[in-house]
Amino acid sequence: MKTMSFDDLNGKVCVITGGAGVLGSAMVKAMASVGMKIAIADINKEVAEKVAAEIASEFNTEVIGVEANVLDKSSLEEAKKEINEKLGEISILVNGAGGNSPQATTKVEQMTENDLDKLEETFYGLEMEGFDKVYALNFKGTLLPTMVFTKDMLKNKNGVVLNISSMNSYKPLTKIPAYSAAKASVNNFTEWLSVHLAKVGIRVNAIAPGFFITHQNRFLVMDEKTGNYSPRGQKIVDNTPMGKFGEPEDLQGATLFLLSEVSSFITGIVIPVDGGYSAYGGV
Ligand code: NAD
Repeated sequence: MKTMSFDDLNGKVCVITGGAGVLGSAMVKAMASVGMKIAIADINKEVAEKVAAEIASEFNTEVIGVEANVLDKSSLEEAKKEINEKLGEISILVNGAGGNSPQATTKVEQMTENDLDKLEETFYGLEMEGFDKVYALNFKGTLLPTMVFTKDMLKNKNGVVLNISSMNSYKPLTKIPAYSAAKASVNNFTEWLSVHLAKVGIRVNAIAPGFFITHQNRFLVMDEKTGNYSPRGQKIVDNTPMGKFGEPEDLQGATLFLLSEVSSFITGIVIPVDGGYSAYGGV
């Protein structure tokens, strides 16, 4: 038997959408550490370029920042052209762009009779504009980049797609129905696409991160005034058997595992990286 390693990833070209974010940049570091060439495709070009330059110099590998909006096919096609010119053909895609927004969040967790005269704080007050934005970013924002960035993989009959799901995909958290529905759709799409592409050499899997404190959820899990966990943040920790939030680096092992040929017979799965949250019934 050969010694096992992630060496097969060395020199491979990866596009990661949302790669300038908190979790995305930890994944970029993991990929850079094994010598991959990485394009961070992010709506925020300036931050993408900054993060790319920092990681490139830390790991002495090629990392570039490219502007792309995951909801705009022509912007993704432009980005693909630039990546092909600068790094070569793409063999790996990580769909990392996503997130929630206060505009798609109910104020109350569960309705009671006391809420009947303030329906605006409940499901009935959700604005469709905010709902649509969050659903689109997480679902269509996974689908469209996959259509564009897997074309080189099709040609070469070899490639890997890694989607980023969430614990909400299994059991929705209160308050965030659009995000939860979209991440459930990401799991379903991961399975669907893995079957669709299995015979043309492209594997499709996902990671479902548990709870990490980042830009998108800080307003929900931290009490800004005291700097302590909010009651919701505390509930999450209490329901995570390991008793803590995750660190972005906790995603690195699962990322390399699913991208590398060490998992060459694995397609259509979602791996939770969650400190045991999804295994725990709360009692
Ligand atoms: P983040 O907000 O730090 O990063 C998201 C990145 O996506 C940002 O760099 C942003 O500029 C980019 N982005 C936003 N809209 C975009 C668009 N239209 N086109 C291209 N790029 C766009 O978020 P994060 O916490 O690092 O989350 C990364 C992924 O992990 C998301 O899919 C998120 O839903 C998922 N996730 C996060 C957690 C958590 O606890 N933070 C848990 C589970 C899943």
